[in-house]
Amino acid sequence: MKTKILVSACLMGHKVRYNGSEKAQISETLQRWQRENRLVTHCPELAAGLSIPRLSAEIVAGSGKDVMAGHASILESDGTDVTGHYQLAAWLALRAALASDCSAALLTDGSPTCGSELIYDGSFTGQKRAGMGVAAALLREHGIQVFSDNQLMELIAWVKERENDSV
Ligand code: SF4
Repeated sequence: MKTKILVSACLMGHKVRYNGSEKAQISETLQRWQRENRLVTHCPELAAGLSIPRLSAEIVAGSGKDVMAGHASILESDGTDVTGHYQLAAWLALRAALASDCSAALLTDGSPTCGSELIYDGSFTGQKRAGMGVAAALLREHGIQVFSDNQLMELIAWVKERENDSV
């Protein structure tokens, strides 16, 4: 069975980031996977009703997992608490993944939603720290293999191994 993969929309060239930009990383493999109908392109923040542009947001004093458990918050750069919007974004990412039978996700690192290795540290000073965003944390909690955009080669190897095993 072909592996289906949830992909951050900004990685596929959609201008959905907070500042209206994209982070296109359209490699040959991603193009082929798209032709093979393996990719589910999704922006959780947009799905949750956040606008473009929007203020940058960071997880304060915790991780995406803590936010989903109600133990940490997400604030915009002007101090507005947008935790509820981001929790919804995470649930919608999970729903999109499950609805299309995705077993993996390739997500933009650094985002309070999609980050899976690094997130900003909550000080709005451009400093990053190890941690996961809300969608990455929830997807992992539900057994979906999450790879950051820096781990495309690992994802390719994982898909190959999984599909060889299922032959
Ligand atoms: Fe990209 Fe994810 Fe942020 Fe949407 S929520 S702009 S897909 S990193």
